Amino acid sequence: MTVAGILKYLSFQLWLTGKSVIDLVAPTECVGCGRLGTKLCQECLGEVIGGINLQSGLAGTIDTIPLIYAGSYEGVIRRTMVAAKHADDFPSDRYLSVLTRALAERIWEEIDLPKSLLIVPAPSSKKRIESGRYVAGQIAIGVGKELMEIAGVYRRNLVIQVVEALGFVSDGGTQAELSGIERRTNRESQIQARTFFSNETQIILVDDVTATGATLKACVKALETKGAKVIGILVGAISPMSISQT
Ligand SMILES: [Zn+2]
Repeated sequence: MTVAGILKYLSFQLWLTGKSVIDLVAPTECVGCGRLGTKLCQECLGEVIGGINLQSGLAGTIDTIPLIYAGSYEGVIRRTMVAAKHADDFPSDRYLSVLTRALAERIWEEIDLPKSLLIVPAPSSKKRIESGRYVAGQIAIGVGKELMEIAGVYRRNLVIQVVEALGFVSDGGTQAELSGIERRTNRESQIQARTFFSNETQIILVDDVTATGATLKACVKALETKGAKVIGILVGAISPMSISQT
């Protein structure tokens, strides 16, 4: 392990569990409960699945666009999502497959899908993609596959494409002297669509987690400025406060 690798691992472990460095001699522990010998134990996986199945639904709207979520960003779901995003060796596939299935089912129920649909993940900076996983992208691909399967069951003709159509105007830059809020606002104002769309283009926007919806709003604005219509927004997990507000 390189020094950078060790530091990343350390900061992840500390952030995740708040435990001391001494615990790192036994690195394989469940992200949900801390049980040794597994990255996600059966009980916690069951809790994640149960939580997603119980909670997924419509959280309200963002700029009149339906916002659909799979789980509440707390407890085991929160810790699992953090691990899926930041732990290189975390087996996120099982978790993400449950999550994408729930999202696809909900969107099938809630939204009248057009014959041709683009699924677009919220952007992630190059730095983030390199240092972790691009979970929004993984969810977008998973939802696309699940929707095709559901459409097959109902014998409906759907053309779905997953397109990384959003990005940041510039990656990095000098944000060091800005406050947290300024930095975030700056980032949001830098989101742009990489292409123009024809007026008929209908889009489902996807992100892993949302709290205030500010990033999602910026994404919607970026897509609609270039001619697309966003018909639904999917998030893997939503902060509990956001659910109760809507
Ligand atoms: Zn566990």
